[in-house]
Amino acid sequence: MKLTIIGTGYVGLVTGTCFAEVGHQVICVDKDAEKVKVLQSGGMPIYEPGLRELVDKNVKAGRLSFTNSTAEGVAKSDVIFIAVPTPPMSDGSVDLSFMEGVSREIAQNMTSYKIVVDKSTVPVNTGDKVAETIKRYCKAKVDFDVVSNPEFLREGFAVEDFMKPDRVVIGVRSQRPVAAMRSTYEPFNAPIIVTDINSAELIKHAANSFLALKISYINAISVICEASGANVQEVANGMGMDTRIGRRFLDAGLGFGGSCFPKDLSAFIKISEQLGYDFRLLKEVQQINSSQMERFVKKITDTLWVLKDKTIGVLGLAFKQNTDDVRLSPAIDLCLHLQKEGAKLRVYDPQAMGKARAVLKDVTFVEDMNDVAEGCDALVVATEWPEFKNLDLEKARRALTHPILFDGRNMFDVKEMEKIGFIYKSVGR
Ligand code: NAD
Repeated sequence: MKLTIIGTGYVGLVTGTCFAEVGHQVICVDKDAEKVKVLQSGGMPIYEPGLRELVDKNVKAGRLSFTNSTAEGVAKSDVIFIAVPTPPMSDGSVDLSFMEGVSREIAQNMTSYKIVVDKSTVPVNTGDKVAETIKRYCKAKVDFDVVSNPEFLREGFAVEDFMKPDRVVIGVRSQRPVAAMRSTYEPFNAPIIVTDINSAELIKHAANSFLALKISYINAISVICEASGANVQEVANGMGMDTRIGRRFLDAGLGFGGSCFPKDLSAFIKISEQLGYDFRLLKEVQQINSSQMERFVKKITDTLWVLKDKTIGVLGLAFKQNTDDVRLSPAIDLCLHLQKEGAKLRVYDPQAMGKARAVLKDVTFVEDMNDVAEGCDALVVATEWPEFKNLDLEKARRALTHPILFDGRNMFDVKEMEKIGFIYKSVGR
């Protein structure tokens, strides 16, 4: 298949690269000239495990290319995926201006039948708007179909998730684009759900909100565990072995963040409101998430009392492991809370320091995780990077002025930490 992806970010670049990897001919378009230049010259604008190798391989094989030109992307392919941002507005609703803009650009460049596939996360009924817009702006008056194909990949595991999806959702208004969509996804050997556009759009918001709900649920349980002396990990293990529940997304911690869950949750609440339903359950999910951070900050201030002029080491800045993405990262949020209280920070992240420099000011970026604790009054684990399990704990304990470690991700064993001599505070244990 000849495919074009408009928007070459976390989703677009992974999508384009994985499609090329299974043999399709792919053009990735982005309006960010700098990003395209980086990609054309063999660089990588984002960190995603395994992605660089796949991009290199497919560019060399002549199956993957990058351009600034939407006109070129539209002319050379029959199937055009949209993977542009759908950021939140101040009231929580979705800013669809990127979607509208791309729909217009596609329309203005169409001279033959195209399948326009929305991969961005959008409110239910957006497909109709995209179709209306294309119809309005397409001077050539050619046929087209709009398809909804929401993306479920996780940053940090994006290539793996894209190559082996649990399911592929395809929302259509007519049968015409179905065969081409099936051919596009056939090499992935995944179950394909063909449904109407509205249901496809809703599946994405319903799924992400449910996952956020699962995290808030276990975080609420963690509060009960702390109050009662139970251990949230034991509870999660016991719950998770029930196949009706499952163990994933049952890790208590600092709460969820990132560019998807918070925005998709607010969007879904807003969409529901516009459709006449007050989704109070999801409002509570949001509430639990923000109070989880407040509770953790309180844990730190209860222990250290006044933070002014104290130095705190922070391990992890990315919103989760295996990514350099710091958008709405709970770790960054925590840093800002601590700074507001007057603390000085020494911070480290294996991949996200570059992006964190743009949002964190007046902190010391440390190049080695084992040097972070040097001269600190306490150490905090804010992101669940697996390598933090290999932290030289003896060295950290000696380097700290007081051996206090706040673990926002429950990375270490409570008894083990106490044996080493730490005052160790985690979440729900
Ligand atoms: P991103 O910000 O990383 O990338 C979007 C890209 O689109 C940027 O490079 C931007 O320059 C480009 N762009 C914007 N307008 C354009 C235009 N008119 N023409 C060409 N390029 C344009 O965003 P992302 O994280 O990839 O998310 C994209 C969509 O996918 C969002 O709707 C998001 O909610 C959804 N999504 C994201 C994830 C994720 O984990 N990041 C997962 C599933 C779904």
